[in-house]
Amino acid sequence: MQRTAIHTITFTARCESGLHIGGSQDELAIGGADNPVIKNPETGKSYIPGSSLKGKMRAELEKKLGQFGGNKNDRPCGCGQCAVCRLFGAHMSPGGNLGPSRILVRDGQLLRGGRIENKTENIIDRRTGAAARGGLRSNERVIEGTEFKMQIVLQVFDQDSAFSYKDRTEKEYMGDEALQAIIADGLNLVTAVPQEIRMRRT
Ligand SMILES: [Zn+2]
Repeated sequence: MQRTAIHTITFTARCESGLHIGGSQDELAIGGADNPVIKNPETGKSYIPGSSLKGKMRAELEKKLGQFGGNKNDRPCGCGQCAVCRLFGAHMSPGGNLGPSRILVRDGQLLRGGRIENKTENIIDRRTGAAARGGLRSNERVIEGTEFKMQIVLQVFDQDSAFSYKDRTEKEYMGDEALQAIIADGLNLVTAVPQEIRMRRT
C-alpha cells in the first residue's frame, strides 16, 4: 500500500453558543464530561482537542450511515468494510485490509474570544443524543462567539482510488474526493464548515 497524497483542510470553528470542551471522546466533548473546560497547561487558554472533534465526527457519521452500535459496549465500528472504517480505521481490528487511519485531526487553537463562564447543563449520551445519567451539572464553558482555528490532515493511499462515496446530497465521489466528502459530511453533522482544502501530492 502506497500513500498517494496528503490533503490539508483548514477551517474556523465558531461557537454559536457557549461550549463546554472536555477531553473525553465517549461523552462527545460537546455538552458532556465534568466541570472544567480543557486548557493548555502552559498558556491557560482553552482549545479543542483533535481527538474530541474526531470522536464526535465518527459517532455522527456512524449514525448517518447505519454503522452505529455494531460493536458491543458502545464502541466505534470495527467492521473494516464501511466508509467510516476506511477514513478513521477499523476500531480494534488491526487485521483488517483497509490499512491505517486516513485522518488526523489537530488540536484547535484559540483565535478569539475564549472567556470562561459557568453554565448548568445536561450530560449528553453518545448513543441516544439525549440527556444521560439524569443529571444536571454545572460546567465551565467558553463564551458564545469564541473561535478556534482547526486543521484536518487526510492521507490517501493507492487502494483508495477505487473507493466511492455518496454524500448527503446524493452526489457520488471517487478516490481522494470521496474521502474529502466524508470529512465534509462529518463536519456538517457537527456544524463546522470547511473553508479551505489544500492538497499536496507525495
Ligand atoms: Zn465499519
